[in-house]
Amino acid sequence: MRAAPFTPDHSMNVIGGARCAGGGPRRTVENPATSEVLVELTDADPSDVDAAIVAARRAQPAWATLAPVERGRVLRRAADLLRDRNDELARWEVLDTGKPIREALVTDVHSAAECLEYYGGLIAAAAGEHHQLGTLTGWTRREPLGVVGAIGAWNYPLQIAAWKAAPALAAGNAVVFKPSELTPLTAVALAETLAAAGLPDGVFSVVQGGAAVGEALTGHRGIDKLTLTGSVPTGRAVMRAASAGPVPVTLELGGKSPVVVCEDAELDRAVTAAVLANFATQGEVCSNGTRVFVHSSLHGAFVDAFVDTARSLVVGDPLEPATQVGSLISDEHLDKVLDAVRSGVDDGAALRCGGGRRTDGALADGRFVDPAVFTDVADDMAIARDEIFGPVACVFSFETEDEVVERANATSYGLSAGVVTRDVDRAHRLAAALDAGVVWINTYNVTPVEVPFGGVKASGLGRENGWAGLEAVTRTKTVLFESGPLEGL
Ligand code: NAD
Repeated sequence: MRAAPFTPDHSMNVIGGARCAGGGPRRTVENPATSEVLVELTDADPSDVDAAIVAARRAQPAWATLAPVERGRVLRRAADLLRDRNDELARWEVLDTGKPIREALVTDVHSAAECLEYYGGLIAAAAGEHHQLGTLTGWTRREPLGVVGAIGAWNYPLQIAAWKAAPALAAGNAVVFKPSELTPLTAVALAETLAAAGLPDGVFSVVQGGAAVGEALTGHRGIDKLTLTGSVPTGRAVMRAASAGPVPVTLELGGKSPVVVCEDAELDRAVTAAVLANFATQGEVCSNGTRVFVHSSLHGAFVDAFVDTARSLVVGDPLEPATQVGSLISDEHLDKVLDAVRSGVDDGAALRCGGGRRTDGALADGRFVDPAVFTDVADDMAIARDEIFGPVACVFSFETEDEVVERANATSYGLSAGVVTRDVDRAHRLAAALDAGVVWINTYNVTPVEVPFGGVKASGLGRENGWAGLEAVTRTKTVLFESGPLEGL
């Protein structure tokens, strides 16, 4: 029997530096892989959200007054503390999400730590501009926005919290973060880590709960910026709320990204890229390349190898090091994924492998689905158009570059895209032609903190990571100073 990291604990909100119970409903959160109760908690209510924002408004000015290098030091210390707890926090992330431990050990905590480290260093170098215009001197100040209201999804809970918190805190903002109601654990760990690293009370708070708590946060007039990682409908709701301020908004939303396997591609690399693009974190990745377009000359060989690899992936207990495909997050999401598979079959696509729920032994208590590969998919079928957010790949055949660009771009989404080719000219052409915020060439789903990440079209607005991530949580003030005589009218 596995010990839950939090036994019944009603103090899962962190407001003004203190762990506390919320005034909202009491509920339990399950480990999706076993259906065991992981934690009991009491959600925030609107007065808790208000208290977190009031604490943030009180704490933010002093935090912003610290020298950038001092704020950065706190973040870099937090990065080290997270790394010290890598194995423990990776395990929590597995219990909360159902993702395989082999991924969590090398991705989730590391990514959060790198983001804190990166912005902890970058902020000291974030100078403004200077313009000497005769006797007029102009300069810009990069100022924090104030209090950032941030809302996360459940697939990468700690990474999402850190990607939102690190640039905002580095720039001198305070943050009130609401994790997904399905994955409450590691946001609390991040708050405690930041506090242990020296972050003043109130500068980073956590409010727990679902859409109602999210709405209390987005509708609060004490918020100066909103940032969401979630689905497109939630993105629209958050943007509507932001328009009341209006306050700036960053939206990291869903996708239905293409991977283009060109005729000159190396087959093994193409299959590996497609596997990374579809089955990591059991397919619950926003940037997944779930529409795999393969040149007709390679299509047969690619499909055989891709199906063989998909079949060979180890589906099972996420805490087992050998497991490559873990449990989906919830019954509701499981039903959505199984419905999508059924709709593909009903629409006449060929299901070449997987797509069924595992009901053997202990896996019956979780939400495990075998990696599915469809071929003979028409571009207008629902499985080719809608984000499934599970281990379901569609493989298409194409003839010409113009044709594949047109079909790849024929979607309302535009988060990311992949290209597998050995032809440098073609790589550049396709990188330019594909409608996406991120294009991976000969790799997939790598997200180094140094480069911006985010989508175009319905996949989002704004960018996280890189310099762009800092600009998104700051405002530019222009100052003009006249040292010469001043002439009147
Ligand atoms: P979701 O939209 O259901 O929920 C996201 C968050 O928003 C949750 O914390 C939820 O409680 C909150 N929320 C829901 N309704 C709200 C409202 N009206 N006002 C304020 N907050 C509200 O998404 P999800 O199911 O948690 O996550 C899956 C989605 O997230 C997928 O579409 C996926 O592609 C997307 N995603 C995008 C990225 C990215 O970086 N682009 C990363 C991860 C996930």
